[in-house]
Amino acid sequence: MRTAIYPGSFDPVTLGHYDIIERTAKMFDRVIIGVLNNKVKSPLFSVEERVTMLKEVTAKLPNVEVQSFGGLLIDFVRQSGGGIIVRGLRAITDFEYELQMAQTNRVMAPEVDTIFLTTNLKYSYLSSSIVKEIAENRGDISEFLHPAIVKKVRGKVEEMFK
Ligand code: ADP
Repeated sequence: MRTAIYPGSFDPVTLGHYDIIERTAKMFDRVIIGVLNNKVKSPLFSVEERVTMLKEVTAKLPNVEVQSFGGLLIDFVRQSGGGIIVRGLRAITDFEYELQMAQTNRVMAPEVDTIFLTTNLKYSYLSSSIVKEIAENRGDISEFLHPAIVKKVRGKVEEMFK
């Protein structure tokens, strides 16, 4: 069974993430989305909310599961029974950090490989922070998010920034 682990903050999940998830689900038997429960970064959405949103948007993809994790990614991969880490690359600006992470993970866990999927050009500019900024300024975010979560994101941003 080929397993892919797609880790990230997903604060919130965008159509750029979704595109990576759909493509990964076609290539692997099982995809585990790992939602980082990061105590240092302060996310807009709680880890539970981020997991719920990801479950909503991936409801029609039968081989995709969503879990949260804290600590080291390689420990999460090992606890999941092993697999290949999948990350998305949008631009050269992502590259340096992604390469460093992949190399470090490789030193710590030589059995775990990382692969990169290049972004769908349609979403190459898209990030969770841009979506939050647009929502904060009452812009239309429906172009950037799966329809299942547009209302939830709008509601949360309005509640936080009223
Ligand atoms: P992190 O905080 O781990 O970078 P993100 O939720 O921002 O978490 O991103 C998770 C992964 O998805 C990263 O590999 C990131 O490069 C990728 N990603 C984010 N936005 C896009 C996009 N628009 N197209 C392709 N990949 C993306």
